[in-house]
Amino acid sequence: MRKENTLYVVIPCYNEEEVLTETTKQLKKKMESLIKNKKISKESRVMYVNDGSKDKTWELIKKIHEKEELFTGITLSRNRGHQNALLAGLMTAKNYADVVISMDADLQDDINAMDEMIDKYHEGKDIVYGVRSSRKKDTWFKKTTAQGFYKFMKFMGVDVVYNHADYRLTSKKVLDEFENFKEVNLFLRGMFPLVGYSSDIVYYERAERFAGESKYPLKKMLNFAWDGITSFSVRPIRMVLNVGIIIFIVSILVLLYCLIVKILGRAVNGWTFIVCSIWLVAGIQMLSIGIIGEYIGKIYSETKARPRFIISENLEENNVKK
Ligand code: UDP
Ligand code: MG
Repeated sequence: MRKENTLYVVIPCYNEEEVLTETTKQLKKKMESLIKNKKISKESRVMYVNDGSKDKTWELIKKIHEKEELFTGITLSRNRGHQNALLAGLMTAKNYADVVISMDADLQDDINAMDEMIDKYHEGKDIVYGVRSSRKKDTWFKKTTAQGFYKFMKFMGVDVVYNHADYRLTSKKVLDEFENFKEVNLFLRGMFPLVGYSSDIVYYERAERFAGESKYPLKKMLNFAWDGITSFSVRPIRMVLNVGIIIFIVSILVLLYCLIVKILGRAVNGWTFIVCSIWLVAGIQMLSIGIIGEYIGKIYSETKARPRFIISENLEENNVKK
């Protein structure tokens, strides 16, 4: 068991007035039982992050906070989207907590998985990913698009934990290191694996949203996937380069073919020249764009200035302390 066990549960909320009361009720029960079982400290809190909601969400959070010490909150100056709101919450919570769990406001992520997550934390894991074991309760459309999303990400060269969204436990140590990731285009579920440290997985069944509607319509989801791919992978650029190489090789074959036709005297006047130019120029252009793309990809990853390494233990430091 780790001694440091103040837990903060971070929950981004955008127009969630319909669900917050029920979420609060259920989380209160859960947190109280965790405190009673001494799995987390009495200073543990649930932190709502109001992401510039247009309804009464923030008023509701303030009211809950006044009534219940267990609940607290921050509000953003305007709507910045789920990932930014979540990051704001994580970076605020880590100042007070030893360990943080992030989840959605609609309780689609089974809060009973928290027990197992915290057990794993006490066993020494620093990141615990919540993974959906099934999506029986999701609509067919949501299920297919969401699973397609993970497969497409993989195909595009982005390393994500399959079926893991943002239901995740992270220790303070991980969040402190995470602060050094300065990128603005956030794709948190792809970034945490980059931090490293020992991690584990907890499976849970994904429930239905019990009130309100999804704040992630198809358009937002596609944007999100695109953000993930372009922030994590140079594979799209490589694809351009590969197409360039293929067209270039084809153009040489076309060149040979045209020459043969010409030599055999079957070509119409000017045909050889036009066909060869089209293929050769197109091939060279595509190849050049691919090469320039490679450099842009390099510039992009340099500007993100991600940490090049993270040291998790240093024996020398222990010596000095002793
Ligand atoms: N959310 C947010 N800002 C936004 C959109 C969504 O903070 O601009 C929050 C929302 O309140 C919820 C979580 O992100 O707690 C996930 O959204 P939702 O449940 O609508 O997504 P889905 O489960 O349908 O993918
Ligand atoms: Mg949801």
